[in-house]
Amino acid sequence: MRRVVLIRPRRDGRILGKAPGSPYTLMRLASLVPEEIPVEIWDENLYDLPLETMREGDLIGITSMTTDIERAEVIARRAMKQGAGVVLGGVHATLLPEHAQTFAHSIFIGEGYFTWQQLIQDFAAEGIQGMKPIYRDEEWADLHGIATISDRVIKMMDEHKNYWSPYLEITRGCPRNCSFCTAIRVSGRRMRFRPIDEVIDEIKRRGIRRFFLTDDNFGINFSIDPDYCANLFDALAKLDLDGWTCQSEMSIAKFPELLEMSKAAHLDKHFVGFESVNPHNRSELGGKSKGVAQTAGEAIRAIRSTGVGVVGLFVMGFDEDTPETFQAMWDFIRTSELDSVSTTMLTPFPGTPFREELIRENRLLDMPWSTYDTAHVTFQPKNFTVDELRSAYDWLCRKTYSPSQIVRRGMRSLWRYPLSQASKKAFGSFSTDYGYRRTYAFRNV
Ligand code: SF4
Repeated sequence: MRRVVLIRPRRDGRILGKAPGSPYTLMRLASLVPEEIPVEIWDENLYDLPLETMREGDLIGITSMTTDIERAEVIARRAMKQGAGVVLGGVHATLLPEHAQTFAHSIFIGEGYFTWQQLIQDFAAEGIQGMKPIYRDEEWADLHGIATISDRVIKMMDEHKNYWSPYLEITRGCPRNCSFCTAIRVSGRRMRFRPIDEVIDEIKRRGIRRFFLTDDNFGINFSIDPDYCANLFDALAKLDLDGWTCQSEMSIAKFPELLEMSKAAHLDKHFVGFESVNPHNRSELGGKSKGVAQTAGEAIRAIRSTGVGVVGLFVMGFDEDTPETFQAMWDFIRTSELDSVSTTMLTPFPGTPFREELIRENRLLDMPWSTYDTAHVTFQPKNFTVDELRSAYDWLCRKTYSPSQIVRRGMRSLWRYPLSQASKKAFGSFSTDYGYRRTYAFRNV
């Protein structure tokens, strides 16, 4: 065995010289490769990959989301042609294995923490012949001591130089069951927690001062295990951090003490999944939101009153949505006190109940996977034609991400901090909205 190469296919590319987020899962998998085997992480967001160097004796692991699976396929086919062993993992391989299998020697179904080392052994022993078609994790891994990021990987990544936001995971899972969500099909509905001392140790060893939590619903831990959250915030408050952000739900508004503790722990913003301002969509929202604008507005005010910022996450195109829903969404964005906004298009990702419903009703459009980026219409809507829904969404994005709106929300966000921190917080106050604008504009050319 010559080496292990872990690849993240291109998605966002660089922004002002750096990639948005570090390839966290690959960093953890690379850390599980035995020290005696050379390992490399290739991130196509950072540079053009030296694909011509892949050859016999290389084990090539490719992670991919549904939206970049076509690029993953190109890389996988080339690697196989050049004689390397190819394994595909990640969300798409887990949720649509029959597709991923068509262009890899092996696929991973599940998290891979149990089976990754098995595959390395199989490949080391017998090369491609030793690779099984499917490696499946049969149970959810306990997060205690799992895949600790090694010093070898920390050194290799140079996160300060290469990435705007290092990623970090603290908890995993979500007990909700939103009809459009892939996260729970990949990470399970039982909440799992990393030991706090392991989290703190990882932050210190990586030397990161800001991070984005990959946890799909960190905020739900406020109600599931408030003691864990309080202890975590106490420990994070002692670190010299510039700030961090996480994904949450609006129920955090009911926990002002924890919110204040999170602020003392350097948390800048919660990305809160309100999802809709149309109450007729409530059955799609897994019990976390009733889709009522007034309730969402009150939650935003309550969270911001503790000094923590709120990024509102909204999904458009539910079956109950009408043209009036888009106007209501814009009215809400315009008048709410949000720090930043994300409005995405409902997307029927593999493995979700929403996709199954569309298949049953013959409403899936024949679109390339690259359009599964939450900015395209990929199914036949109920109350619109495809063109009408696309135009309504474009209208909302143009309004939401106009320069004047971005400046207005950015200034509101910046005012939350004392003047002494203004220069440090300026980038984060504007970059979230700017990033969404870039995504929308780039994907609609
Ligand atoms: S609350 Fe968020 S993570 Fe949980 S199921 Fe709904 S969309 Fe997925």
